[in-house]
Amino acid sequence: MQSVKDHKWTWVRRIVILAMLLVIPLLLSSPRPMTARMVADSENGTKVLVLNYHKVDNMNISLSVLPEDFDRQMRYLSDHGYHTITPDDLYDSLEGQKELPENPVLITFDDGYRDNYDNAYPILRKYGFKATIFVITSFLGTQPNYITWDQAREMDANGISIQSHTVDHKSMTDLTDDQLRYELVESKKKAEQELGHPVEFMAYPTGTYNLHIAQMVKEAGYKAAFTIKYGNVDKASNIYALERVPVFHTEDTNKSFLERIRYTPIFERFGWIKS
Ligand SMILES: [Zn+2]
Repeated sequence: MQSVKDHKWTWVRRIVILAMLLVIPLLLSSPRPMTARMVADSENGTKVLVLNYHKVDNMNISLSVLPEDFDRQMRYLSDHGYHTITPDDLYDSLEGQKELPENPVLITFDDGYRDNYDNAYPILRKYGFKATIFVITSFLGTQPNYITWDQAREMDANGISIQSHTVDHKSMTDLTDDQLRYELVESKKKAEQELGHPVEFMAYPTGTYNLHIAQMVKEAGYKAAFTIKYGNVDKASNIYALERVPVFHTEDTNKSFLERIRYTPIFERFGWIKS
């Protein structure tokens, strides 16, 4: 029979082993040193915040951020020294050809809703902010809830980069290669004709993609593509699967917004998002 002392010793050993099992994987998954500066400067370069919006209106659905909330979020970015950048700025910095400003943020909108022009654009102009809209090219000028090509051209001339979100917004993992090529090549061509300059970035409709699709995006002549994979972009990112931080309308939209932009780098450090 075990003595009381042996029994106690067994428990101490169990606790030590358990603690080691918990701590060792955490240490292994955190290869970067834990310093306060690591958010800004890791070995993979500056971490870039890419925000992803859809609608800015009063619909009270998760895809619709209220105009007053959007205004408050832009004011927060402005007050806290964020600098808006273009997809080209991001691409050039990832290629090592350009230095980004401090606290860079790429503000993106998916789909090209009419409210982007009516509600978001005046607010962006108020703060002197750049942004990017990924448009569904067959919807422009044909669907009433989407911007027109005239509006696209006006915004494009005033700091809002217009890029491709394919022709028809079909989930790309459901398409044949011919259909994929059509969605990628024709949307690029149409936007280039309408805007009069190269269109070299795209966002995957519904965020779905795989390596084969990414390869086709590259072959279609795009420089980079954006997903809805949660996280910040840095030099470790796949250029054809760039991370974004989505902003939704929630019970407390602005609190959710702050939590998302503040905590993403910490989540990433422990490998909870990128893997
Ligand atoms: Zn979309």
